[in-house]
Amino acid sequence: MSYAEVAVNSPGSRSSFCYAIPSKLNIDVGQAVWVPFGARVIQGIVVGLSEQPSVQATKEILEPATDYPLLSPMQIELAQWVSEHYLCPLFDAIALMLPPGFQRQTITYLRLVGCQDSLPSLTPEQRQALHLIEKTGKASLKELERKFGAKKAKQLTDQLVHRQLITMNQELEPPRVKPKTIPYVKLTADKDEIKSEMTRLNKCRAYRQAELLDFLNQQTQPIPVNELRSRLHCPLAVIRTLENHHLVSIEPVHVRRDPMSHLSFTPTSPPVFTLSQQAAWKSIQDNWNRGSPPVFLLFGVTGSGKTEIYLGALAKVIATGRQSACLVPEIALTPQTVDRFASRFPGRVAVLHSGLSPGEQFDEWQWIKEGNCDVVIGPRSALFAPLPDLGLIIIDEEHEWTYKQEDRSPRYHARDVAIRLARLSDAVVILGSATPDIETFHKAQLGQYHLVELRERITPRGYSPLPEVNIIDMKEELRAGNTSLFSRSLLAVMKETLRRDEQVILFLNRRGTATFVQCRDCGFVFRCPRCSIALTYHSMERKLTCHRCHYSTPVPQACPQCLNRRLKFFGIGTQRIEDEVKCLFPQARLLRWDKDVTTKRHAHEELLTAFRDRKADVLIGTQMIAKGLDMPQVTLAGIISADTGLNFPDFRAGERAFQLLCQVAGRAGRGLKAGEVIIQTYSPDNYAIQSAAKHDYLGFYNQEIEYRRRYDYPPFSQFTRLVYAHTNNELCRREAERMSQVILNEKERTGITNLSLIGPVPAFAARVRGRYRWQIIIRGNDLDQFLSQMALPQGWTVDVDPVGII
Ligand code: ADP
Ligand code: ZN
Repeated sequence: MSYAEVAVNSPGSRSSFCYAIPSKLNIDVGQAVWVPFGARVIQGIVVGLSEQPSVQATKEILEPATDYPLLSPMQIELAQWVSEHYLCPLFDAIALMLPPGFQRQTITYLRLVGCQDSLPSLTPEQRQALHLIEKTGKASLKELERKFGAKKAKQLTDQLVHRQLITMNQELEPPRVKPKTIPYVKLTADKDEIKSEMTRLNKCRAYRQAELLDFLNQQTQPIPVNELRSRLHCPLAVIRTLENHHLVSIEPVHVRRDPMSHLSFTPTSPPVFTLSQQAAWKSIQDNWNRGSPPVFLLFGVTGSGKTEIYLGALAKVIATGRQSACLVPEIALTPQTVDRFASRFPGRVAVLHSGLSPGEQFDEWQWIKEGNCDVVIGPRSALFAPLPDLGLIIIDEEHEWTYKQEDRSPRYHARDVAIRLARLSDAVVILGSATPDIETFHKAQLGQYHLVELRERITPRGYSPLPEVNIIDMKEELRAGNTSLFSRSLLAVMKETLRRDEQVILFLNRRGTATFVQCRDCGFVFRCPRCSIALTYHSMERKLTCHRCHYSTPVPQACPQCLNRRLKFFGIGTQRIEDEVKCLFPQARLLRWDKDVTTKRHAHEELLTAFRDRKADVLIGTQMIAKGLDMPQVTLAGIISADTGLNFPDFRAGERAFQLLCQVAGRAGRGLKAGEVIIQTYSPDNYAIQSAAKHDYLGFYNQEIEYRRRYDYPPFSQFTRLVYAHTNNELCRREAERMSQVILNEKERTGITNLSLIGPVPAFAARVRGRYRWQIIIRGNDLDQFLSQMALPQGWTVDVDPVGII
C-alpha cells in the first residue's frame, strides 16, 4: 500500500495529512484529490508520497480531482517554504499556485423523499422549510440558513431527516470558469465528393449551398460560423443543410480570451544602449553565470533606462528558451510597462492579475502553462504563474509596499519569495528602483546582492539633470497672510507653466476633501462607529465616509456632543485642490486621478491616455501618480503637502515619505524640456524632505540606517506582528496580555536571549469592522524555529516581516 501526504483545504491546518492510496488509483505529487475530512469531502493537493504511513490510522483518497499534477515538485517545495516562513496553512500557500477558479466547495443539498402524509403534525417552521425545498425539488443548506439562521436551519434539517421526509447529500459546486469555445465550420467531404456535390447543387438551383461549399473548399483552415455567415451573408440554415448532408461539420474550438485584445502594439526594436547602460549591462553579464545565479539590485534614478535593461535581460533569457516573470507594483497603474514589453516581444507577453475577468485569468494561466509566452507581467501574484522553465524574475519598483500581501494569508513578501523561488529554479533576479528599500540596499552593501547603478537620466535631450526642487516653508506663507493651499511660489510657477502651454501635476497623499471633521467648540471628531478611525468628508456627495470599511453617513448639521453648529473641515483632499485650481485658473483643463474616479475597468488607461494626449493641462492625484508614469510633457510637479505621512507612528514613516517625494519629483521634466518641482511643507528641515529635494538617496540611506541600528529596527532585527481581534475590547486586551505572557514563558523555557516584545497595545487602526484589535510585536533574530513551534489560538493573525504601520 502507498500513502500520500495531502495538504487539505481546511482552515487552521498548518501541515499535511496522511491518506492511503487505493491500489486502483495512480496518484502523482502535485495532483488534486478528493479526500474525506471529518464529516465532509474536501479538495486537497498531494505534496508527497511514501510507502509508510506517517500516522497509524489513515483514511483512503476517494478520487483524483485532476488527472495530471497541477503543481510541480519545485512549486510544492516553494509552498512549504512559504508556509514555514510566514506561519500559514500549507494549503494557503499552495492556493497561490492553483489555476484561477480551480477551488471548489462541496454544497449540502436537501431533497424531499418519502410520503408526506404526516404533515399535520409538523411545526409551522418545519412546514416552511419543507415548502422551500418543495419549490425546486432540492435546496441547499445555505438557502435554509439564510432564511432561518445557521442554528435553526441545522435543527430543522435534523428533525426532517429524522422523520424521513428529506435526505441530505453533498455535491460539488459547479466550476466557476470553463474553457471558452466557439463553433467552427469544417469541410468533411473529400475533393471528388465536393465537385460532384457542387454540380448537383447548381443543377437544382441551390446556389447558396454551392457558393458556401466553394468558399470552404478554398480555405486552408476551419472558419468560425459567425465569420462565415457575415462574409457570405448566408443564414445559419444553409450551413445546417450542408451539415445534415454530412458535407461539413460544426465543431466547438477552444479560444483564448485575450486580456490585451483591446490594445494594439507597434513592434519596436531595442535602442543602442547609452554609455551608462552599457556599463551596467556589462556588470550584469559578467556576473550572470558566476556560481549560483545572482540577485542584482539595479539602482537607477527615475528615467535612467532601467526598463531597457530589463528588456535586454529578457531577450537574453528568451534566447536560451526559458521564460521570465516581471512584477510591477500595481498593473492597472502601469499600462505603459505592459505596452513597452508587448511592443518589444509581440504575441509573447502574458498578463495576470485580478482585474481580468475570471475567464481571461483562466485562459491566460493555461496559455502560460502550455509554454506559449516568454514573459508574464503582473502584480505580486504573477510570481506563481505556471511558467515551465523560469529563468529570470524582474521586480520593478522593488521598494513598493504592494509587494507585501497584508490583508489575507499567506502574508508573504513577493521580493523574499522571488529570491527563494529563483534559488529553487536556478533563475536570476533583478530588483529595480530609484529609491531601493532600506533593507534591500543594506543587503547590497553587505554584498548579498550585486549592485548595478544607472546615474544619469535619459531624455530626448540626451543625459539631463534631475529637475530642480524647491522646498517651500508653509509656516512662512501663513506668516505672510497666505492661508490658501498654494504657496505664492507654486502659484507663480504654475501660472508660468500653463502660460507656456506645458503640463502640471499636483500631488496629494490623501483622498476626499477633508481628512476629518471636528467641532471647533468641544473638539469632537467624527469617527467611524465600526472602525474608530476619523471619517473623511466628500464634498460632491456631502457625505462622511470611512476609508477602511466604506461606512458612510450624511454630514451632520451640528456637533452631536455639544449641539454647536461650528464644525470645521480639517485637512485637504484632491477634490478641494480641484475646486481651488478651477477658481484660480478657470481656463485650465483639469483631470483628477484617485480611487474615487477610477473604479471602472480600464479607467486608469483612459485617464492616462487623455492626459498624455494633452486633453488636460493639470493632473491632480494621490499616490497613484507616483507609480512610474512616463509623461514627457509635464514640466512642473507640485507637492501640496509633504507632511502627511511624515508623522505616522511607524518606524518606516521617513523612508516612505522620502520614496514618495522622490517618485513624484521624478515625474517632471522627462521630455524635451527641463522640469521643476515644488515641495510644500511645514517641516522643511526634515531629513527625508531635505534628501528628497537633493535627489540624494545615499545621504538619506546613511542617516536612516544609523537610526535603524540605534533603535534595533529591521534590518538589524526581525519583526513579527501578532494581532488579536474581537468585538469585546476588554476580552481582547486580556487575551493579548495572556498571549504575551505565554511568549515570555516560552522565551524563558528555551533560553533565547535576543527576543523582546513591543506591546501588547491597541493596533494603529484599533477597531476594524466592529472588532477591536490588539497587537504584540515580537522582535528578535532568527526567530523561525521559535515561531514555528508556537500554536496560535483562533482569533489571532500572524504577520511575519510586516510592512504596515507598527
Ligand atoms: P526607467 O525605467 O529607469 O524609468 P526607462 O527605461 O523608462 O527608464 O527610460 C527613460 C526614457 O529614456 C524612456 O523614454 C526610454 O524610451 C528612453 N531610453 C532608455 N534607454 C534609451 C537608449 N539607450 N536610447 C534612447 N532612449 C532611451
Ligand atoms: Zn469604518
